[in-house]
Amino acid sequence: MICKRCNGEFDHAEPKAKEYSVCNNCWDEWKKYSIMVINDLRLDMSIKEHRALLKKYERVYFGLEKAEDVRDLSKEEERVPDKS
Ligand SMILES: [Zn+2]
Repeated sequence: MICKRCNGEFDHAEPKAKEYSVCNNCWDEWKKYSIMVINDLRLDMSIKEHRALLKKYERVYFGLEKAEDVRDLSKEEERVPDKS
């Protein structure tokens, strides 16, 4: 299979990665990024709406949705400054 994100070839991917046709490396990248999203947006995974928002970020990350009201947190200026 060819990874949709990095165009690299891969044979095996975990089920969640397969959902998006991406390799495990790219899936791991998302997992790291998602932690940043959770911290930055202060998402609480016990709240349904927050889980839905993270899912939206996931879909945007893998190009399934347009990033309209979703911030690109890989850009420093998009991140919420740490007030502490
Ligand atoms: Zn990949």
